[in-house]
Amino acid sequence: MALYMQAAAVLGKLQAKRGAVKTLVYNSGHKNIKQLYALVCETLRYASVLEEIIGMTDLLKKEKKLQINVAKVLVYDLLFGKGLKCGGNWKVLMMKHRSQLKSALARLKVKRKVCNNEDLIESKTSGTKDYQLPRYVRVNLLKTSVEDVIDYFKREDYAYLGQATDIAELKKLAHKQFISDPHLSELLAFHPKTDLHKHFLYTAGHIILQDKASCLPAHLLNPPMGSHVIDACAAPGNKTSHLAAILCNKGKLFAFDLDTKRLATMGTLLLRAGVACHEMANQDFLLVDPNNSKYKDVKYILLDPSCSGSGIVNRLNQMTDDEESSGKQRLQALGAFQHKALCHALSFPAVERVVYSTCSVHREENEDVVEKVLEQYGSNFRLVNLMPSWPCRGLDSFPQGPRCLRAILNETLTNGFFVAMLEKQNGQNRESLAPVKMEEENPEESSPPAQTKKVKLKKM
Ligand code: SAM
Repeated sequence: MALYMQAAAVLGKLQAKRGAVKTLVYNSGHKNIKQLYALVCETLRYASVLEEIIGMTDLLKKEKKLQINVAKVLVYDLLFGKGLKCGGNWKVLMMKHRSQLKSALARLKVKRKVCNNEDLIESKTSGTKDYQLPRYVRVNLLKTSVEDVIDYFKREDYAYLGQATDIAELKKLAHKQFISDPHLSELLAFHPKTDLHKHFLYTAGHIILQDKASCLPAHLLNPPMGSHVIDACAAPGNKTSHLAAILCNKGKLFAFDLDTKRLATMGTLLLRAGVACHEMANQDFLLVDPNNSKYKDVKYILLDPSCSGSGIVNRLNQMTDDEESSGKQRLQALGAFQHKALCHALSFPAVERVVYSTCSVHREENEDVVEKVLEQYGSNFRLVNLMPSWPCRGLDSFPQGPRCLRAILNETLTNGFFVAMLEKQNGQNRESLAPVKMEEENPEESSPPAQTKKVKLKKM
């Protein structure tokens, strides 16, 4: 029963705005954090459906001692989960109402004209069906090749649809189908409900489960092999591992983060991904001395600082009406930090190219930050016009906004995201800079990445 009581307690604290889901679950001290987190998240997803069913059956009136959040988690597991994981009085109580609850669920489906439980959530708000992100899979070129991963999935009876030429093709993926992304050559897209977290290729680090938008920063920074790169706010390390793959593990990758726990996760992720060119530091990037001789050759910096996260689709805090995330004061504070961090990145003496990204949809964290930085550094740095054919551009409230990229769920089929790239004007070492990634090369013409260590995958 501890599981249900603790899940109910977390729900209560969320309603009282006493913290974020992950923090509350982690701090609960429950012995199986993963199980508790999954139950809380799923109950939140189904919250309105559960409330309706509980109301239809008068459950709380009939069982006066049953508190609403306890009822929600129990009803969730009974109707939508893998069955109740408790015994004793609670089990007896729930079993007493089981058939009534089941019939309420059936009536609700008829009323909403849906067949599947999942569709109950989707039918609740019009248009939420569009809010389905494909399952993006980035092939880790440090361990394998795109061709080998495609073959592996084909051998598991997934149907490969070839190279997509348009984002619209990603919307049509059926169960067990996958396709190559039209913009990023090492990215594959699967049906949104594909769960690969336990898949061998994932656990062995051959594939990384990473949203497409979050692959853009490293792809656009495109540091050449052998170069020295800083990942300023790096944990949990998805972009660091992407940078290492682009560097083919050749060069130096300095990765900083303030958060020890996130750095520990990052250590595991990088090990699994076969990253070997990095130096991880639990350090405040703002306090890293740009004039330290260690960084004298750093030409490339990726800055993906803490942000409101307002672009993340299905963000759990959205389900709990977290207004704090977009509060004016919070955005101002974040914007001030982001501005400071971007100025700091530009102060590294050898830096030639800085990519700035956030998973926020707010202008205050995106265009405003870049505009303010350019007011100070505009004579030394210019904004690169990124991927001209990318459909969503930065807001033109900032005159150079259209040189930046935005990602918007319904248009780019990704989380909400923002990317800008600043490049040194008249850089002394321009000839040694990698070409700017404007568009993905024609896959027919491009040769496989040089010096990529490929491991043939054998089906287990
Ligand atoms: N780039 C990461 C990735 O792709 O996995 C995600 C980075 S997350 C958006 C922002 C990170 O910045 C958090 O892990 C946070 O701990 C870190 N952070 C915040 N302030 C920082 C600072 N002053 N110096 C270094 N890291 C910082």
